[in-house]
Amino acid sequence: MRYQTAPCPARVRKAGILFGRERPVENRALSGPESSCENPRPSRSQRTPVTAKILDGKAVAQQIRDELKPRVARVRERLGRPPALSIVLVGDDPASQVYVRNKLKTAEEAGMGIAHERLPATATLAATLAVVRRFNEDRAVDGILVQSPLPKAMGPDAEQQVFDAIDPNKDVDGFSPISAGRLVQNREGFAPCTPAGVIELLVRSKIPIEGKHAVVIGRSDIVGKPMASLLLHKNATVTICHSRTKDLPAMAREADILVAAIGRPAFVTRDYVKPGAVVIDVGINSVTSPEDARRIFASYPDRLETFERRGSVLVGDVHPDVAETAGALTPVPGGVGPLTIAMLMANTVKAAELRAR
Ligand code: NAP
Repeated sequence: MRYQTAPCPARVRKAGILFGRERPVENRALSGPESSCENPRPSRSQRTPVTAKILDGKAVAQQIRDELKPRVARVRERLGRPPALSIVLVGDDPASQVYVRNKLKTAEEAGMGIAHERLPATATLAATLAVVRRFNEDRAVDGILVQSPLPKAMGPDAEQQVFDAIDPNKDVDGFSPISAGRLVQNREGFAPCTPAGVIELLVRSKIPIEGKHAVVIGRSDIVGKPMASLLLHKNATVTICHSRTKDLPAMAREADILVAAIGRPAFVTRDYVKPGAVVIDVGINSVTSPEDARRIFASYPDRLETFERRGSVLVGDVHPDVAETAGALTPVPGGVGPLTIAMLMANTVKAAELRAR
């Protein structure tokens, strides 16, 4: 791995312009796993850090939501009602409750119609499917979202059965097999919101995708695979990595655009990143152990202070020190997360527009 001997003035200048937030980065000790790369890691005193441009997901999400307003108004004119999103929440998972609350709040702020159906954790699969079918039939519903995960007691393939049951024309989460097939074939449809949001962020940040080598770590149906398809449709050359990939750091270091969707706190360290690469951190992990917090945030007193205050702190799949190697980086929180909700709104408006045609 090569370390830049001096910060690139152009990059440092650029860092403050489009997305405005340039975090001063002082020399810090690496606190992730030991390097597996060939070149020796320079000593602390040798390292001259690079400050990555911080890709502000909140700002881009706001832009997307603002652009939806006239479209919402046009749907209202044509259908006599705003685009309508129905959310099904089964059980009491605290994180799911927060996610659903945020989605409902954002939809309300966007002037959309919302319905929220709550079922107890003891609800059967049949009862959940009945709600989905009711929303499928309801002409006043444009988009249906069933919050994942469903309670484990519902059975191992419950989620798949529920996603299968959603009318593909209302599948604003893009999880049904029809939506997945349309996405692979690059046809009109609904792409899953998180990877679709990543593409919006890259495009609106004027980060070239065509001809670039994109490496996606993670192959889930909701993030990794659709992310790879979307990057491919933008003419990137795409490599998908997963838990069985050999020499993952070397694979990752090939990337011009590196997407981490793994679900492991601060897993991607500087050893995984080619200097100047664009790094997209999809992960959202809550760190609750003081040892982990101290290890990851050793050089970030503000984050340690958050941990002390709240007993937990959020971290992505990418170690914060990567900001010293990457050319651009999404923060956690405030990176990909806000885009996911914005794209849910965009998909719901699109579903309503298709019905209004
Ligand atoms: P997932 O279904 O658990 O998939 C994780 C993927 O990471 C799997 O493909 C797995 O490989 C791979 N992986 C796990 N350990 C690995 C390792 N040591 N080396 C290489 N690959 C490894 O998770 P997900 O639903 O895709 O979510 C990923 C992360 O994104 C999570 O932190 C989640 O909270 C976050 N997320 C964020 C948003 C957002 O709005 N920002 C939305 C969705 C998800 P195998 O397939 O080989 O097991």
